[in-house]
Amino acid sequence: MRLEIEQINCLSDNYGYLVHDPESGETACMDTPETAPILDRLQQKGWQLSYIWNTHHHFDHAGNNLEIKQATGCTIIGPAGEADKIPGIDRAVDQGDSVQLGAHEAQVLNVGGHTLGHIAYYLPATDNAFVGDALFALGCGRVFEGTMGQMWDSLQKLAALPDATQVFCAHEYTAANAAFAATIDPDNQQLKDRIAEIGALRAANQPTVPTQIGLERATNPFLRPADAAIRAHLDMQSASDADVFAEIRARKDTF
Ligand code: ZN
Ligand code: FE
Repeated sequence: MRLEIEQINCLSDNYGYLVHDPESGETACMDTPETAPILDRLQQKGWQLSYIWNTHHHFDHAGNNLEIKQATGCTIIGPAGEADKIPGIDRAVDQGDSVQLGAHEAQVLNVGGHTLGHIAYYLPATDNAFVGDALFALGCGRVFEGTMGQMWDSLQKLAALPDATQVFCAHEYTAANAAFAATIDPDNQQLKDRIAEIGALRAANQPTVPTQIGLERATNPFLRPADAAIRAHLDMQSASDADVFAEIRARKDTF
């Protein structure tokens, strides 16, 4: 099975994505950060939009739903937990549901915390996950609506995906996340190597996204509250993983 994925720069630091199944000809648009660059890319590729798959209700994710639906006649699928805030939604989905793109199945994961109903789309046959603002390269979403405990549960679901899973997040926040990660996990050699690579990519104006679950598990401090060196650095040797996560998230909020 094969999928074609187009990554589209939108706004100042958002990524939009088109996911195309060449077998069926179906195409899904992950969130709607901006209208023109998404419609332009559809036209360049000669693809007809079948679906919008929304991750959460924030304006830079669902704000252009109606314009894109009007232009393409697509069907909008989005999070059941915040369906009332998703413009033009046709089908509401949540943990345990699946959505189809041709013969490709995307499993819906509830990854609430950044917003209460936030969902991710995981396509196991092609090792791809579209995670919105739940998990970022070396970071995670700010906890706006949910609790720290809910966010930690959500991140554990994503961390449990296979190491080779490609993670398509919705923002290019990696350089800032890297600067913070270095303050939490300063002796992690793999993190240091990655920070050097990120600096080179950004200096060349190249994206650092997608990332992979295995790489995040090894270097993203928000997935590593169980790590002995991080716990020692924070002087939280006997705290729960959830409490260590909450401390790291709180430090990032004021970094
Ligand atoms: Zn958001
Ligand atoms: Fe966002």
